[in-house]
Amino acid sequence: MSFDYDLFVIGGGSGGVRAARLAASEAGARVGLAEEYRMGGTCVIRGCVPKKLMVYASGFAHAVEDARAYGWQVHGGEFDWSLFKARLDDELTRLEGVYRGNLERAGVEIFDSRAVLADPHTVRLADGTEKTARHILIATGGRPFVPEFPGSELAITSNDVFLFESLPKRILIVGGGYIACEFACILNGLGVEVTQFYRGAQILRGFDDEARGHIAGAMCAQGVDLRVGCNVQRIDRVEDGLWVKATDGGDAVFDAVLFATGRRPNTDGMGLEEAGIALGANGAVAVDEWSQSSVPSVYAVGDVTDRIALTPVAIREGAAFVETVFKGNPTRADHDLVPGAVFTRPEYGSVGLTEEEARGRGPIEVYSTAFRPMQSGFAGRPDRVMMKLIVAAESRKVLGCHIVADQAGEMIQLAAVAIKMGATKEDFDRTVAVHPTMAEELVTMKVPVRTG
Ligand code: NDP
Repeated sequence: MSFDYDLFVIGGGSGGVRAARLAASEAGARVGLAEEYRMGGTCVIRGCVPKKLMVYASGFAHAVEDARAYGWQVHGGEFDWSLFKARLDDELTRLEGVYRGNLERAGVEIFDSRAVLADPHTVRLADGTEKTARHILIATGGRPFVPEFPGSELAITSNDVFLFESLPKRILIVGGGYIACEFACILNGLGVEVTQFYRGAQILRGFDDEARGHIAGAMCAQGVDLRVGCNVQRIDRVEDGLWVKATDGGDAVFDAVLFATGRRPNTDGMGLEEAGIALGANGAVAVDEWSQSSVPSVYAVGDVTDRIALTPVAIREGAAFVETVFKGNPTRADHDLVPGAVFTRPEYGSVGLTEEEARGRGPIEVYSTAFRPMQSGFAGRPDRVMMKLIVAAESRKVLGCHIVADQAGEMIQLAAVAIKMGATKEDFDRTVAVHPTMAEELVTMKVPVRTG
């Protein structure tokens, strides 16, 4: 049977673009790709990239005070959202163009249209046109999830933050995960009055407990009004904003209520189940280790599969798919020891097991230190850094590394290489410190603070 394409990709985000580009440029495949919104997907258009630029913008909050402490004669300024937003919009448009250009150069045919599955070898575009393909890759990502409650339609999501015409004066952020904590810190830094509700006992569930406590303490010290064990009961529009009734009995008025309560795979109305594709929890495409769905011609990568919802993981999954299906080199995406960073202030970089996870797996030694870093300490700021290594008592392997510090995301990338290679605590110890840095503490912790 002849097909219009060797590969048709639905979704122009991190995973889909990488797979399309590699299949076309490295395997000579005839590739089509459909994207209904803007090329680049969540990461580029309404996720990692604009968020990180906002992290940078927010990071200047202390710059003037710090500069004065270091002897500079400077005068304070005010953050101008509209100025920043215009530059942000330009940058996203530039990046979108880069993504599109890369696809075009690789010979991928782009359709600026929604596409759904018509059958295991056919996609249908919004105008009704059908395209056939030997293989179809679902890379449609995810979308924010807002639970149903009275007034839930008044809530906004992270998608809306990048579209603000002006910054709200008072915002309520609901959730305790990556997005809630990152935006709480960013907006607080930009001068917004931030209240954060988290339904559990401590934010960043699933991360290392000591790090979670450290970050929560830092966020509160910076002025985020963090209320744990608290959720939204209802929202009503009132004259001066949005009135929120909380489950702890309290109530207050905010200018915006941002729900960062998780994301769901984008599979609704895609024709997947009709084509026989099995979906898992929350509607994710169920895939095997090769990213193949229950229908052999259809594969899926990235957030739509709800494995690890991170851009670099989606990219690896897309590349592994191309190796496997188009280059005769069966390759599994490696989901083990994936490092990550939460861009709170201070940042949190982590790789491997938490102390709590490691305890269940055998005897461990825990090395941990908290200290005032030189740069902010000199400026008189009370910030504290946390560095932690979890070590298997018998094999001596470093099982986990947790860093809460400015630039922790940069540091954890390098620690992750050593840990991925199987470094032992003694390997860390025999590595000479780089002085004076914060990261040198990673190779100078001599005595465990706990064993277990
Ligand atoms: P998360 O899964 O990280 O956090 C969701 C939060 O919402 C949790 O605190 C959860 O509480 C809470 N929640 C869920 N349902 C409800 C509800 N019905 N009512 C109240 N609270 C609720 O999701 P995010 O949306 O923050 O981020 C989605 C994913 O995107 C992340 O998991 C991550 O993979 C990725 N991401 C990565 C970033 C990075 O690498 N820096 C940045 C942003 C996103 P509970 O803990 O009790 O379940």
